[in-house]
Amino acid sequence: MEWEKQSEILLNRVPFFVRKMVRRKVEEYAVSVGAQTVTQEHVHAAKQKGRPVGPAVDPNDRFSVIRRIENIPADQESIPMYAVEACQADGIDCPMSVAEGHRLTEQIHQILEKSGLTDFITNSVSGPLLPHHRFKVSISSCPNSCSQAQIKDVGIIAQLKPKLNNGECSQCGQCVEACREGAIALQDEDPGICLDAGQCVYCGVCIRACPTDALDEEEGCGYALYLGGRLGRRPRLGEKAADLLSTRQLLAVFERIVSFYTTHAQPGERFSHVVERLGLQDVAAGIELPFRP
Ligand code: SF4
Ligand code: SF4
Ligand code: SF4
Repeated sequence: MEWEKQSEILLNRVPFFVRKMVRRKVEEYAVSVGAQTVTQEHVHAAKQKGRPVGPAVDPNDRFSVIRRIENIPADQESIPMYAVEACQADGIDCPMSVAEGHRLTEQIHQILEKSGLTDFITNSVSGPLLPHHRFKVSISSCPNSCSQAQIKDVGIIAQLKPKLNNGECSQCGQCVEACREGAIALQDEDPGICLDAGQCVYCGVCIRACPTDALDEEEGCGYALYLGGRLGRRPRLGEKAADLLSTRQLLAVFERIVSFYTTHAQPGERFSHVVERLGLQDVAAGIELPFRP
């Protein structure tokens, strides 16, 4: 539905986390009065009618604010205090994807469900529970990190490591052209190219660009792990804690992260705060990371 410029300006004054819901409510109102374009009058009228408002805040319900922000009905008792977000790779068949995200998302969900994390956070936080109290996990199916893995408590990014095969390179230079990191160069000696591991982000683009078998995948995809990111009042970028973990290693480490969090968090602390307070080295030792980058 179209919005007049002034009505868009009014909408943009609404906090971003409820903007989508407000847009929907105002459009519902505009349609109900037979309009095809949203004007500022519709925004004001919808506001006066109290339409862009979720369930009322109940001081006896600690989930009240979350219900209101996320429009969760009052009779839904169980509200998870964790969130797992994946990039859209599987849904849009993204050509950059180096791993299937659905299965991993499911496995991470299962670990969180069994972990008792919702009860832990509910008991650890005093007062109303807010969306930012949630333990946030993000999964991206390639290093472009569209799901913003670096600003979540735990960020997981799929990677593909190129393997160089001797005697196969025609020195066409297509991989050099395709690599946005400048991590590949041609060389006279076998295998015909050289890879700068310090520059490589393991995106796998060069492998797809190569017309011969000179570049291959090394043992399928792996995962980079970022720990300790968040947005909010005091934002913090997650720190890279590992590269190229296998799926088995990643899931085992993830279970240890949840357990480490529940045993080391002070009341009300998010995992990101725990990483900040203890430092990545101690956290990495505590969760027994198989290796560091
Ligand atoms: S993170 Fe990569 S795979 Fe996922 S949607 Fe973005 S570009 Fe595609
Ligand atoms: S995997 Fe990506 S970053 Fe690494 S060399 Fe290939 S194209 Fe460059
Ligand atoms: S590795 Fe493949 S793409 Fe790169 S120069 Fe050799 S043949 Fe061409």
